[in-house]
Formats: sequence, C-alpha cells, structure tokens
Amino acid sequence: MPHDRYRIVGTIHEQKETDQTISIEEAANILKQRSEHFDMNIHDCSWISVYRSHHRHITTFRYRNRYFLLGDAAHIHSPVGGQGMNTGLQDAHNLAWKLAYLLTHSARDRLLDTYHDERSAVAKTLVNTTDRAFAFLSSVNWITRLVRLFVTPVLLQFVIQPLFTYSRKFRQIVFLRVSQLGITYRSSNIYDYGASAGNFHQTTPQPGDRFPYVIFSPCYYHLILFENQQLTKVNQFVEFIKKEYSNMIQIHDSNEEKIPLQFEGAILIRPDGYIAYRTNVFDIKHFQCYFDQFFLKEMI
Ligand SMILES: Cc1cc2nc3c(=O)[nH]c(=O)nc-3n(C[C@H](O)[C@H](O)[C@H](O)COP(=O)(O)OP(=O)(O)OC[C@H]3O[C@@H](n4cnc5c(N)ncnc54)[C@H](O)[C@@H]3O)c2cc1C
Repeated sequence: MPHDRYRIVGTIHEQKETDQTISIEEAANILKQRSEHFDMNIHDCSWISVYRSHHRHITTFRYRNRYFLLGDAAHIHSPVGGQGMNTGLQDAHNLAWKLAYLLTHSARDRLLDTYHDERSAVAKTLVNTTDRAFAFLSSVNWITRLVRLFVTPVLLQFVIQPLFTYSRKFRQIVFLRVSQLGITYRSSNIYDYGASAGNFHQTTPQPGDRFPYVIFSPCYYHLILFENQQLTKVNQFVEFIKKEYSNMIQIHDSNEEKIPLQFEGAILIRPDGYIAYRTNVFDIKHFQCYFDQFFLKEMI
C-alpha cells in the first residue's frame, strides 16, 4: 500500500470471531507465532477489524421488475484478489446508463433486463474463483498446507516469476483479469439479435467487448466511422443517424479521435464504453431493427 504501509490479513480462532473485535496486541501476538522465521511487528496501526468471509451471489439481479441489486448486496466473497468494491462499482456503471435511458429516452424494459444478463455472469465467475483461492489459502487440510507451504513458493519462484518477467502475453492476461478491464459482455442477450452487420475477421473487436481507445461522454451512444470505400452508403447511413437519433448518438471520425485500430466500417459504442454494434455494410434497415429493439421509436 502507499506510504510504506502493509495490509495484513489472517484467520483467528472461531471463538474470537464472535467477539467481533480484536486488539492490536492480540493481532501482534498471532502474527509473531505464525511468522517465527521473520522479524515482524505491528506498529502505527490505522485500522483493525474482524470480518467473516461469505461466498454467495443472488440468482436474479433484477427482482420483481423494480428492484435492482448491486455491490455486496448482490455478490459477496472473500477479499482475496481485491475485487469486491470494483465489481460493485462496475455493477453501478452498467445499470446507471440503462436507468437514465429509460427515464430520458424511453428505453424499452428489455434494456434493463440486460443488467442481470451482463452482471450476474461476472459475479458468478468471481465468487467461484475467489472461493477456490480462499479455500486454498485458509485450508487446514495437511495436503493442502503442504502444497501451500512447500510447492507454491517453488512454483512462484521458478514458474510464475519468470513468466511475469519474460512473457508480455502472460502479464497482459493477468493484468486484464485482475484489473477487470478484460470483462466482456459478448454473451449478453443484448447481442442476440444482430449486433453485427457484415463479415469481420475473427480478431476484430466484437459487440460486447470494451472499447478502450477513447473515453466519450457517458450521456450518449457514439458512432465511430473508420476508413471506408463505400462513400455513398456511409453518407446515407450517417444522414439517417443524424436525422433519426441525433439526441442519442454522437458521430466521430476515427482519425480525428486518433483511434489506433485497423478497422473498416463503423462501430457504435454504448454509454458505458462497450461496443453495441458494428457494421461494414451500412445497412440502415438492419441498424434500425437492432436499435429499435431497445428504444421506443416514437419517443426518440
Ligand atoms: C477486509 C476486506 C478487504 C477488502 N479489500 C478490498 C479490496 O482491496 N478491493 C476491493 O475492490 N474490495 C475489497 N473489499 C470488498 C469491499 O469492501 C466491498 O465489496 C465494498 O465495500 C462493497 O460496497 P457496497 O457499497 O456494495 O456495500 P457496503 O460497503 O457494505 O455498503 C453498504 C452500506 O449500507 C449501509 N446499510 C446497511 N443496511 C442499511 C439500512 N437498512 N439502511 C441504511 N443503510 C444501510 C451499511 O451501513 C453500509 O454503509 C474488501 C472487503 C473486506 C471485508
């Protein structure tokens, strides 16, 4: 942590747990017993607390239509990996624009259903992985302890550390996972009905992926136009968007925004920075069918 401070997390005797409190002296004693090979002591403690680790998530993030659960109320797990607060913030980020669009642009109710589709999958994966990690770190089973105390340090030193040092790919995978920037909503119901118009190479960004290159205003959808040969079709498409959706969609040029992505066509970004739709055929009808699934046409 900043300013040379450390966070120490450990298990305490079950009986102590019911007291809901522990003194610094007691914590220091436990630390001394368990770290006999290290010369460690606690001083200048700024915060100490007893907590119980829970592992569960709710089955539906949207309850009786009008209630939305997020943060620890929706999913709770051990602090291993430091993901809890961040996941709650991302729940809020995912839900906020959908509620705002319901109020200001008459989004259809099904847009709100996508909150559950998108965030419950994230919570499920998170609870399962932290559950496994916590079980491994806290188990008193002798085989697990043996692996934890003698095999894991060797693995960390001779496998994980070299991978971190020499493999950019490995660092990237771990970074995207821990920072939660690699989360994708590709399997969300929002993309079931034609969020892609045209043929694309497998490696091009897909609807449901985060679009990391530029931060736009969260009050709008954003259509980004990339280099394209079909000028007449592009112009017709742009004119249509301007005429029909000007209060919801802002239009940008990829060169002006300096977006470092090789792409032919256009990408529509959601207010939360995820890709909503992509096209390289500029089929107006296709786009209209896709978009109007979520918004009442007469209200736009
Ligand atoms: C030891 C520990 C370390 C952690 N470390 C990390 C970390 O490094 N990174 C990370 O991302 N996450 C971490 N977390 C998880 C993180 O703290 C939580 O995920 C996050 O605080 C949840 O935020 P929340 O707003 O959903 O719920 P809470 O923070 O629990 O907020 C809910 C609030 O509602 C109030 N409340 C409850 N009932 C009522 C009521 N009836 N009326 C009015 N108010 C009410 C509560 O008092 C509370 O203030 C850690 C958790 C623990 C226990």
